[in-house]
Amino acid sequence: MARSTPASTRLVVGNWKMNGGSEQLRGLGQLVRAVDTLEGVRVGLCPPATLLHRLSLLCEGTAIVTGGQDCHPEPSGAFTGDLCATMLAEAGAGLVILGHSERRAGHGEDDGLIARKVQAAVAAGLEPIICVGESLAQREAGTAFDGVCRQLRGSLPPDLVDVEYAIAYEPVWAIGTGRSASPDEIAQMHELIRAELGEILPSGKRAPILYGGSVTGETVHCIYTTPGVDGVLVGGASLRAESFLAIVQAAAAA
Ligand code: PEP
Repeated sequence: MARSTPASTRLVVGNWKMNGGSEQLRGLGQLVRAVDTLEGVRVGLCPPATLLHRLSLLCEGTAIVTGGQDCHPEPSGAFTGDLCATMLAEAGAGLVILGHSERRAGHGEDDGLIARKVQAAVAAGLEPIICVGESLAQREAGTAFDGVCRQLRGSLPPDLVDVEYAIAYEPVWAIGTGRSASPDEIAQMHELIRAELGEILPSGKRAPILYGGSVTGETVHCIYTTPGVDGVLVGGASLRAESFLAIVQAAAAA
């Protein structure tokens, strides 16, 4: 069962996406040891599925929890190439990222499918990190808030009660572009998400809300001190142990 994140603790999750092989695991020892000495931060690493079991063994008994990047909504069956939530849990995962914009866009995932994946993840004892975020067109058209609210309402199953989960606000235009949302944009959207969550689910009052989108060691302090930010989801900067550690250490210090 996934450990929960106390309100005062920041959650920092690295998403390696489709990057890394065995070499990625070498040199992680220093990161693992350093993370173990920190207070006030909980760290997750979501490698490609091929590395999940090995990374989980490496992180066993440490402060780092591992996670998957997706799961199938069904528990088993003829779904070539897919992994179900219990397979991730068996490989050592405690988390799973769901509804990432790259899956919404590249694999045609809609809110209804994501809600079913969330249910499957929770049933397997995983803590889902549910991603939402507007496109550039939505932001420019002034419909970012409506779009994110719609994603939230559609992607959260109603039975998400007494379980741990987190929301990641990731504006699509900020992912992998080097252009982070501004503190004002982040604060406004996190406030809206918190209010919306509180209306949708009783558990929504305390679920951590992470920001994701071109977070680096240089920008992260400003993001951590932005109202309503409970942590970060990091793509590119999580691939190098040193840059990820800088983001984790900043979380502990902020
Ligand atoms: C992500 O893909 O979740 C992400 C935030 O990527 P990046 O940090 O590279 O923008």
